[in-house]
Amino acid sequence: MLLIHCPYCEMERPEVEFKYGGQAHLVREPQKATDEEWTDFLYFRDNTRGLHAERWRHAVGCGRFFNCLRDTVSDKIAATYKAGEPRPSSP
Ligand SMILES: [Zn+2]
Repeated sequence: MLLIHCPYCEMERPEVEFKYGGQAHLVREPQKATDEEWTDFLYFRDNTRGLHAERWRHAVGCGRFFNCLRDTVSDKIAATYKAGEPRPSSP
């Protein structure tokens, strides 16, 4: 089981308190997107081997969304950071 640090509560909590929210840093702008860009947004996501930026929600805690850098090979979490903050450089 993962222990995930919530950047809002400032606590490490077990994975069961959190919900996975998909790939982080996606920009949803349907008015500006071409049909091809909109199709990519709706149906395609990165399938990264290594560090991957993800959205998580502390569902049983503060209820807020935040971002997480997780290594998809080792399943280790390298960093968590608040929504709206830039992705940290690779640790
Ligand atoms: Zn929290």
